[in-house]
Amino acid sequence: MKFNSTRGIIKGLSLEDAIFTGYAEDGGILLPETIPQITLDQLKAWSSLSYTELAKQIIPMFVTEEDIPRETLNGLLDAAFSTFTHPEVAPFKHLKDNLNVMELFHGKTWAFKDLALSCVGQFYNYFCAKRKQHFIILVGTSGDTGSAAIEAVRGLKWVDIIVLLPKGRISEIQERQMTSVIEDNVHVFRVDGTSDDLDRPVKNVLSDVEFKRQHRLSCINSINWARIMIQTVHYFYAYLQICPSCDNEVQIIVPTGACGNVMSGCVARKMGLPVQFVCAVNKNDIVSRTISSGDFSMTEVTPTLATAMDIQMPYNMERIWYLYSNGDTKLIRKLMQEFENNSKTQVPEELAVQVRKAIVDTYVGSDDDVRATMKRCWDENGYVLCPHTALAVAYYYDKMKRSGASDGVPSVCIATASAAKFPEATKAAGLTLSPSADVITLLSKPTRSEDMNKGENWEEMLRKKIEEVTQNFENRKT
Ligand SMILES: *Cc1c(COP(=O)(O)O)cnc(C)c1O
Repeated sequence: MKFNSTRGIIKGLSLEDAIFTGYAEDGGILLPETIPQITLDQLKAWSSLSYTELAKQIIPMFVTEEDIPRETLNGLLDAAFSTFTHPEVAPFKHLKDNLNVMELFHGKTWAFKDLALSCVGQFYNYFCAKRKQHFIILVGTSGDTGSAAIEAVRGLKWVDIIVLLPKGRISEIQERQMTSVIEDNVHVFRVDGTSDDLDRPVKNVLSDVEFKRQHRLSCINSINWARIMIQTVHYFYAYLQICPSCDNEVQIIVPTGACGNVMSGCVARKMGLPVQFVCAVNKNDIVSRTISSGDFSMTEVTPTLATAMDIQMPYNMERIWYLYSNGDTKLIRKLMQEFENNSKTQVPEELAVQVRKAIVDTYVGSDDDVRATMKRCWDENGYVLCPHTALAVAYYYDKMKRSGASDGVPSVCIATASAAKFPEATKAAGLTLSPSADVITLLSKPTRSEDMNKGENWEEMLRKKIEEVTQNFENRKT
C-alpha cells in the first residue's frame, strides 16, 4: 500500500517512509492511496474477537506482508497491547441512563495515546533495527502524547526522543510522567508557552528538509499515519461491543483536540463501519466552528480543565477534508495556504456538508460544564470521569435532556484519560479522591529536564539539542 500527501505533490511513499516522515515534504500529511473496505459479514464475524485479535484483523489491511511479515506484525501488536493493565484493553462501563463509556486509558500513561504509541514504538524498533539507523523523534505535546511516546521508546537503542511540554499548562502528573524518565535516550524541555507556541519550533525544524534528513528527524504527533491507523481499531471494538448484531448505526462521542482520534473514526467509517461521530470540545472551539459553519480560524488558546484539548490548530482537519472531498488536493492546498497566510479560511459548503455526514454534531463545553458533569456522574454512578471525557458525557446528558435517552441511535462516550491523571480537575469538581499507589510512586521519583524560557530562541535551542544528540549517538557507536 502506498501513501500520498493531502497536498498532492508527494506521492507513492511506502508504509515505512510514511511512519518515519511526519509532515510530507510538500507541507501536507499522509494518507493511504486507497482505504480498504470491509463487508457487513466480515464485521459480524469479528464480533467475538478480543481487542488484540481484532487489531490483528484490521491492521494487516493497511500493512502488507512486504511492509512487515504477518507473523512479525502480530508479535509487535501482542507486545504493544501486553503493556495494558486491563485484560480487555478497552473495557466498557455501562452507567445510569444508558450512558456507555469506553475506557481507553489502561496503558502505561493512563491516556488513549498509549494505544497507538505503544504500537508505533514497536514499529520504530522493528524498522530501525532492520535499517541499523539512528532516528530522533520530536514531540511537541499538549500533555499526553509526550508521556506515551516516551514510554513507547525509552531505552531503545536506535531511537532518541526529544519532547517539548508546555510548562504549567498540564497537570503535575502529566509533567512527572515525562520528566521522571531518566533514560539516556529521553530529552525533555519544559517550555514557557502554550502547546501551539511550542509546536512552532518543532514544525520549523521539521520543515527544514535538509536538517531533517541529516539528523533523521521524525515526528509522532497525531499527524503520524501509524497512530491514525492503530486508532481505527477502537472504533471497530466500540461498535461491536454496542451492536454485535451489526444492524444499527452507533454514535461515538469523542473528546476532541487535534482531531487525530476522530480522524481514525472517519477512516473506520470509510472502511464501511456504520458509525457517526460527535466532537466534544472545550472553549477552544475551532473544530466545532469548522464543522458547524466552515469557519476554520485560529484564536488565542484559552486554558481549560481539559488541558489535553487546549489547542487551536486541529492538524488532522486537513486529512478529514481529504477524505470527504474525495482527495481534492487542489482545494486542500488552497485552503491551507490561505490558512497559513491569514490564520483563517472558509470551508466551502459542499465540503462542510460531506463532513457533517460523518461528524453529525459538535459540542462546546465550559469548565462549569466539566465540573457539573463530573459531579453528576459521580453522584449517580460513583464513577469519576476525567475532564476530557466529561465533555463527551456532557453532550450525552445534554442530548438526553433535549430529546430523551432514546433517539434510536445507541451511543458510546470515549474516555480518553483516567481521572487519576487530573487530580486538579477532580478537586475543582468537588470530588475528593485519595491518590492511588501509582500516583504516590510517580510523585516520589527523581526528575530531569531543561527549560525553554520566554525571550529565548527556542528553535535554536532545539537545533542545538538535536546536533548534540546525533553527536552523542555517533560517539556511542565508535
Ligand atoms: C490527546 C487527547 C485528546 C484529544 O485527542 P485528539 O486526537 O488530539 O483529538 C483528548 N483527551 C485526552 C485525554 C488526550 O490526551
